[in-house]
Amino acid sequence: MSDDSPHTDSPHDDSPHVLSTRAVGSADETSDEGVEAGEFHAFWADEVADIIEAREPDEPIVIKGGVSPSGVAHLGNVNEVMRGYFVAEVLRERGYEVRQVFTSDDKDPLRKLPRKLANADGEIVGLGDVDAGALGRNLGKPYTAIPDPFGERESYAAHFAALLQADADRLGVPVEMISNTELYAEGAFDDAIRTVLSDLDGVRETLSAYQDKVDDSYVPFNPICGDCGKVTETVTAVDLETETVEYACTDMTVGGDVIAGCDHEGTATFREGKLPWRLEWPAQWDVLGVDFEPFGKDHAEGSWPSGVDIARNVFGVEPPVPMVYEWFTLDGEALSSSAGNVITVPELLELLEPVVVRYFFALHPKKARDLDIARLDQLVDRFDRFERAAAGEVNDEELTAFAERAYPFVAGEEPRAERVRLPYTFAAVLGMVDDPALREQLARDEGHIQEDTPAWAVEEALERVERARTWAERTDNEYNYRLQTDLPDVSFEDDVAAALDDLAAFVEAGHDGEAIQSEMYETARAHDLEVGEFFEAGYRLFFDDTQGPRLGEFLGELEREYVVARLRREA
Ligand SMILES: [Zn+2]
Repeated sequence: MSDDSPHTDSPHDDSPHVLSTRAVGSADETSDEGVEAGEFHAFWADEVADIIEAREPDEPIVIKGGVSPSGVAHLGNVNEVMRGYFVAEVLRERGYEVRQVFTSDDKDPLRKLPRKLANADGEIVGLGDVDAGALGRNLGKPYTAIPDPFGERESYAAHFAALLQADADRLGVPVEMISNTELYAEGAFDDAIRTVLSDLDGVRETLSAYQDKVDDSYVPFNPICGDCGKVTETVTAVDLETETVEYACTDMTVGGDVIAGCDHEGTATFREGKLPWRLEWPAQWDVLGVDFEPFGKDHAEGSWPSGVDIARNVFGVEPPVPMVYEWFTLDGEALSSSAGNVITVPELLELLEPVVVRYFFALHPKKARDLDIARLDQLVDRFDRFERAAAGEVNDEELTAFAERAYPFVAGEEPRAERVRLPYTFAAVLGMVDDPALREQLARDEGHIQEDTPAWAVEEALERVERARTWAERTDNEYNYRLQTDLPDVSFEDDVAAALDDLAAFVEAGHDGEAIQSEMYETARAHDLEVGEFFEAGYRLFFDDTQGPRLGEFLGELEREYVVARLRREA
């Protein structure tokens, strides 16, 4: 049977461009960190760790990510989890205590209905599967004040945070989720809010360099309406003595839509509201003592520059070391849960081993990448090559340098000498077979499993088969066939039946797959049959289908007795 050997079309595609020569963070602010060009590193996370270390941070070093509760926790969120994780692990290896936190912007209002949601198992569902009416009635309220659409957790925000936490757990990343709502409730932001509201002119001046809507009536604080519970935008007075603001619950415009306010006028304490995002982000850095934060390009162009300015000039703190990561696409298109172009971590882990997913995010964050589900075999091949390089089995200096450094962080251990990795496409071929013993036998016949391969290695190798099979099903590719254990309900014309009997005799005599494959052409010709018709008869017998893999070669791998009996329509 054909085994697309694990060659790599362009071995340099993924590897040594992990060797960046410039400091991390395209944002200008890194250039004045005073970090020396520094030692050359094979793994980008070491470069980032150097920059953090050079600032002589207090312990624990805090690495932060952030997430806005939306409908689906997707791979973009995972990107941020994993980038922070590799830097955290490098720092831990260097002897530092590190805390990796993820803030959920859960005091933000729900501005529009998500089109898709992920349930507790990470499965994507439409609004029709939940109480969408309840969501609609809660537009404008903080995520933490909105019921969980699945009725399981205390709020929409808690449901979403649990999804992200579960994804991190599945990938073996210890992340501490932090609720913004809770930080406000505890008073963690009291000082920041007091600072902002004490110097409105200064804050407005700083913000106006970045935002158009800042005029001299703008108060960057959003109280929660005491009557309807929505996040409001109109503060009419500030009382620093009592630490309260006066507000009016006016309409909020979101895109072209209006979320109606209730016109209530009231008083709110500092803990009964929130800072707008541009101030909240730098306030988080201050409150949590953040030393490093990776973020996507959107922030790099938007709230990062203003955040740096506000951190230094309003809160008087240094912003964290930044790292702007490239977004990646899924099947060539931007990730979008509303457009349905999204894959969740549980879904991805049905196709890939966790270590392969971790590897994907260990590649350089500055390079845009596409996760091409149809060609996951290529990604897995690259991982396998990376692993072999880590074991010193690949003659590629750059890849080996990267792999030797990064592999232990990706896999959590050094490569094990006796491990077995079935090429992904070969695993997909084995996936056509249901019987685990037969799968193993085929892998042995093909030389992937040796006489002395330990049981654990056999077991782990065969785990890839289920994933490759799921891949074949999901993409309905050329591996999506099932070997039929029982004889399908078929009947053939006499000439086809006679040809099948001849082929049975040929197989019985003992020939390898290639010989069987060419004999099928001979047999068809001898019986004056269309070749396609004869192959179709074979596919019906073995797969109960009209097409399939290279049949002769496939049959050559199967138990001879079974093949002969099936060709004779006996079993
Ligand atoms: Zn209101």
